[in-house]
Amino acid sequence: MADSSKTAKTPSPHTHMTKKCPECFTYLPLTSKVCHSCGKSVGPVTRLGLAEKPPNLKGYVMAAIAILAFFIFVWWGFFTE
Ligand SMILES: [Zn+2]
Repeated sequence: MADSSKTAKTPSPHTHMTKKCPECFTYLPLTSKVCHSCGKSVGPVTRLGLAEKPPNLKGYVMAAIAILAFFIFVWWGFFTE
């Protein structure tokens, strides 16, 4: 009956020819891992044509250690004599 499924287009994130650095908004090739302008590492392109910021593993680890140290400090201060 209806053959609208053939004409229906699904938007793809890979339609962009370039991506933009999230830090300095320089246009970069889709394959680049590092911004040639500001030197920040960039992830894959998003639907908006921006490059994703890659997860900052070092930052997460440092935050986790800081939070853990804080809880140990509180526990130490309240529950030990
Ligand atoms: Zn940049």
